[in-house]
Amino acid sequence: MRALTFHGTKDVRVETVDDPEIVNSRDAIIKVTSTAICGSDLHLYDGVIPAVQTGDILGHEFMGEVVEVGADSTLEKGQRVVVPFTISCGGCFHCKIEQFSCCENSNPAEKQDLSATLYGHPMAGLFGYSHLTGGYSGGQAEYVRVPFSDVGPIAVPDHLEDDKVLFLSDILPTGWMGAENAEIQPDDTVAVWGCGPVGLFAIQSAIVMGASKVIAIDHYPHRLELAKQMGAETIDFRHTDVREALMEMSGGIGVDAVIDAVGMEAHGFAVDNLLDIAKQTVGIGADRAKALKQAILAVRPGGRVSIPGVYGGMTDKFPLGALMEKGLQVRTGQTHVQRYLGDLLSKIEDGTLDTTFLISHRLPLEEAATGYKNFREKQDSWTKVVLKPGMETTQ
Ligand SMILES: [Zn+2]
Ligand SMILES: [Zn+2]
Repeated sequence: MRALTFHGTKDVRVETVDDPEIVNSRDAIIKVTSTAICGSDLHLYDGVIPAVQTGDILGHEFMGEVVEVGADSTLEKGQRVVVPFTISCGGCFHCKIEQFSCCENSNPAEKQDLSATLYGHPMAGLFGYSHLTGGYSGGQAEYVRVPFSDVGPIAVPDHLEDDKVLFLSDILPTGWMGAENAEIQPDDTVAVWGCGPVGLFAIQSAIVMGASKVIAIDHYPHRLELAKQMGAETIDFRHTDVREALMEMSGGIGVDAVIDAVGMEAHGFAVDNLLDIAKQTVGIGADRAKALKQAILAVRPGGRVSIPGVYGGMTDKFPLGALMEKGLQVRTGQTHVQRYLGDLLSKIEDGTLDTTFLISHRLPLEEAATGYKNFREKQDSWTKVVLKPGMETTQ
């Protein structure tokens, strides 16, 4: 089959590789019909995630048709399914209390040492996201093996086209959980840092949850425009003092809740230091947490801080004093995707949520490398790239 593979920093290629096979009885094989490039794929592309190997197949946002099932899969051949980026066993302590992204069984034992050293506990398995998270082949391919297929994938009705449901795999539930973690109450004023896909969906979710005012902060004009179209007020941080503006927009009190949808960005993971800690348990690199620091200073005393943005390492000069003295509440984490799928699918079906506005480009899988390059370099206009394995090439 054809698949997008990693070959080094800013070097991804579509190549012919072996077809996936059923390995365990709960596996299924999915023929991919749509797969998206995620902002966090750019961390892989930029070479800042440890334990990515040459030839690894990337991609964790995908959907398609079930073409093969193991004896214990609950899926049926021919079903159309969206697959969560988190791999969860369904039976461990964490899965049972719906903390799916903390699954203890999905990251194979021999892969767990690095994340266990970094975080005190190993990470769960994720598709297409390095050997830190299990080394699973991703979905930017014609076919993909889905482990624990009786737990993760959700069947979608035929009348909902791929573009409408694909983002259930990651960014829609991630934006939704980002808003849920901010514990939004009716009449709240909420500020969201970052108008990338997750930030925009967090804005949309906050509005659906009843926030009376949502303020979006970014510096890309097109992304701010999308936030505005969704009903947010906007701040361009290049031209405006963010904290001052937020004080003014919240009647001099500060916003009730803040959502950091920026995360470490590509610059701060300091991979050399991460590898050092794995080898020697010594120092660790600094995440660039400017947005988060600003958010903590801008939120009102007693307010809530939600962090859907991804961080990997440690950060310097963190305003711990502000966190304590202001009595803030912080919630974060990789998304427990499976927890949200049913509810969010209903909201797509009844029209409460429409995420198709985000897609700026649709490309054949064969042009995935172009997709990565432009998504990386033209962030303002390439808001989201969807790859279609069956699509005719444009070049
Ligand atoms: Zn993603
Ligand atoms: Zn589990």
